[in-house]
Amino acid sequence: MKKIRGHHLFCMTLFSGHGYDAAFTNAMKNTIFSLQGGESILLCSGEDEICQSCPNQRQAGGCALGTEDALQRDEAAFAELQLQEGELSGWMEISERRLLITKDALEHVCGGCCWKEQGICSWELWQKRAENRNLEFQ
Ligand code: SF4
Ligand code: SF4
Repeated sequence: MKKIRGHHLFCMTLFSGHGYDAAFTNAMKNTIFSLQGGESILLCSGEDEICQSCPNQRQAGGCALGTEDALQRDEAAFAELQLQEGELSGWMEISERRLLITKDALEHVCGGCCWKEQGICSWELWQKRAENRNLEFQ
């Protein structure tokens, strides 16, 4: 079972091989492979499996890019996917719930994020990915 925070359900969907460093990128790929392979997901807010491999994770806790900002994205992600912190889920269920996401919903979760502002994450990519259960990263 992997602990995954709300907004990382979006980050995994839009992951295209970019990351903060090589360790982070590898952890992201390995996490996605494990979940696609059937490992279950414990939904959380705050630090998760992916944060543990991120250079922005502070040793004292929190995110160097904005702890509150990341928590607000978790909350928005759960609201838009109609999920709740503490629930158990899985890749197939998340894949189905991706179809709930509209352009405005994506903006609610991702608005202001540097990856979206750089064009790496986008509504166009979301539309391509939303219907694919097995994501291709490149
Ligand atoms: S725009 Fe940011 S929060 Fe949204 S999926 Fe991309 S990296 Fe994650
Ligand atoms: S520590 Fe911050 S930047 Fe790194 S994965 Fe977690 S929320 Fe994202």
